[in-house]
Formats: sequence, C-alpha cells, structure tokens
Amino acid sequence: MENAILVVNCGSSTLKLALFDSHSLRCTATGLAERLNHDDAVARIPELEGDFPLPAGATHREALEAMTKALTDSGLLSGPPAAIGHRVVHGGENFREAALIDDQVLEAIEHCAGLAPLHNPVNLSGINSTRSLFPGVPNVAVFDTAYHQTLPPKAYLYAVPYSYYRDWGVRRYGFHGISHSFMLTEAARRLGKTPATTSIISAHLGNGCSIAAIRDGLSADTSMGLTPLEGLVMGSRSGDIDPGLFDYLKSRGIAQDQLHHVLNHESGLLGLSGQTNDMRTLCDLAEHGHEPSRIAIEVFCFRLARYIGAMMASLHHLDALVFTGGIGENSSRVREQTLDNLKLLGFDLDQELNRYGGEYSGGHIESPESRFPVLVIPTNEELVIAREAVRLTSASN
Ligand code: ADP
Repeated sequence: MENAILVVNCGSSTLKLALFDSHSLRCTATGLAERLNHDDAVARIPELEGDFPLPAGATHREALEAMTKALTDSGLLSGPPAAIGHRVVHGGENFREAALIDDQVLEAIEHCAGLAPLHNPVNLSGINSTRSLFPGVPNVAVFDTAYHQTLPPKAYLYAVPYSYYRDWGVRRYGFHGISHSFMLTEAARRLGKTPATTSIISAHLGNGCSIAAIRDGLSADTSMGLTPLEGLVMGSRSGDIDPGLFDYLKSRGIAQDQLHHVLNHESGLLGLSGQTNDMRTLCDLAEHGHEPSRIAIEVFCFRLARYIGAMMASLHHLDALVFTGGIGENSSRVREQTLDNLKLLGFDLDQELNRYGGEYSGGHIESPESRFPVLVIPTNEELVIAREAVRLTSASN
C-alpha cells in the first residue's frame, strides 16, 4: 500500500500496529504483539495467516521490526509509510494537541516519563524504533492527555498545597483523551450537530476506565488524575481510594511498592471478585450465582453511576451520554445496571435497543421517556491517530 499511514501504540508489554490508506483513511491491516520482554512473546497480523513467534524476550523494537517486515514482505506495506502516528500516554502540560516529532518534542515526552513511568518510556522506544527503521518519514505524537488540557483549574487542582502544582506539576491530567475526543465527533455526527456545540458525558470502559464531561466540544472534567489510577473501578486498578489506606496498610506490613502493585494489578474487578479482570467472564459467573462476581459488577456500576452524576456539575446541558470501550460497547448488563442508579436524573433505557447495543438504531439505546439520549459508539483510537498524522504532515497530498 503506497501512502500508508502507520499507527503505533506501545503498551507496557504489548504493541498494536495499524495501517491506513492516507487518502481514504480506510484501515488496511492491523497487528498485535503480546507478552513483549517475556519468554513467550508472540505477534499476530490477522490479515496474514496465524501467529508468528518472536525471539524469546523480544523488545518493542524487535517486534516492530518483525511486524513491519512481515507487512512489507506480504505487500500490505509497499515502501516506507507516508507518515507514522504514535500514541503517547502523557504529554503533561506541554501538549494541548498532537505534535510533529522533533528532538524538542522527544525531550518533552522524556520529561513527562516521571508522571507515566510504565508508559512514556515504551512510547519513546516505539518512536525511536520507527525513526531508525524509516529514516526521513515524519512521526507524529498523539497524546492521551492533550484533549483534557482544557480542564478548568476547579477540575484539575487537587486540594493540596498549591506549591505542589506550581513546582512539581501535581494536578489532574486525565487520560483516554484520544477516545473521548472521538466520542465527541461521532456523537455530534449522529446527533446532527457540530462538535463545537455538542455537550456529552463520555464513558470509556475497557480494561482501563474513565469518564469525561465534554462541554461545547471541550473537556471540562474527567475521572482520571495525575496518573491513570484515579476514578472509576477498572479491570485490575482500584480507582478512587482513601489515601489514609496507605498508612493503615503500612501498619499491616504492606510496603509502599507492594501497595503500588496491589492498587494497579490486583484490585478493581479482579480484586473484588477474586477471579478475573474480565467483565464478560464476571457476567457469566454472576449469572451462575457467583456472589463475589455479582458484587464486583455492582461496585463497578455504582461507582460509574456516581461519576455520571458528578460530571453533570460541569455541563449546562447534555446532548447524550455515550458508552464505549470493550465493556461500554458490549455489556448491556453494565449499561442497564449503571443507569438503574440514575432514574432520578431521568435516564431510561429501552431494553431491546440496549440488548443489541444500539446496532440497529444508530447507537441509540434510550427509551422515549428518557430525559437524555444514550448512545453506544465503538471507539477507534487508531483512526484518530491516523487522522492527526495526516493533518500534521499533509501525508495525503
Ligand atoms: P483495553 O482497555 O485493553 O483496550 P477493551 O476495550 O478491549 O480493553 O475492553 C476489555 C473489556 O471488555 C474486558 O473486561 C472484556 O471482558 C470486556 N468485554 C468485551 N466483550 C464483552 C461482552 N460481550 N460482555 C461484557 N464485557 C465484554
């Protein structure tokens, strides 16, 4: 494919690739490498047959090399891409929008690594790899935090000494901005409005979960904070907790680094259910009478409902509540159970439309009695990144 846009999304042990046609922005191939830096690293390109093993302990760079070689050998990628878009998790206060990568931008991303130690270093390794694999091809960084840079101080300041913000950048940044901004443009399109006049509450519910209040096209509040640990209950992350827990658990012999691991990897749906972080499995278990799974889902939905209520404080009107992410798009149970908590606000679902996730109703799942539209919209972060790569490099010319 000539004039392809390559999208690179490096997670802590995963690498997702996508190829887009730079003119039509049609996705022509995808790729996923998993368990990177582990003995059983593996990669898959669905457009090509089967998994292909990577060398034991393969790094992001090695996976990227192997996958772009496979794409080139198969003809899915003919020649260097026209531009490369990278998802970068933390842009701090430096980036209000995507940026064409040069040495200064790289330095700024590196500078933010302290705020996202699990993510920014692997994002950087993806950027450095494509820069040396495809010399001369422009690289664009698209930040998960950038969209939330319009948060007003009342939403981003923690009530701690102000000098922590002024001197160290301690504030709420918010994440999933790429997905929330896509929800805005898609919801506006479906509602026949312009993004700049559209106000929504966007709930991105995947393994990581966050919610955003979008007022007249701009992010006005969001549930994640300094790091992606704050806010909603997630797959294995706790979301909000009382900071007093730190001292109490210390007195119980749980050390600081252990606590970090527990809150990030052993909490959330996994911690509550004692079984899994996977919502689909939890729903099956709950249906078969597994009480801890039922409770885990109940806590998840109740926290989400509380946050939907909280997001109302930032809006002067609401055009739609939008569900997205693996759970938001697929779990009718979660959507129903969440909104059952919010009858007082006037949310009401049509059971049949909800069961099909709005598939035959343009995404709408609300009943005629509902005070607000409720939409289910599949997210497409790779497309946003590809669009930004085209916008900043004129790669479609
Ligand atoms: P990530 O944040 O890793 O991209 P996803 O957006 O793919 O994650 O979401 C993964 C979550 O979506 C998992 O908890 C999974 O169980 C859930 N999910 C996917 N399909 C369904 C379904 N049909 N019912 C309930 N949950 C589902």
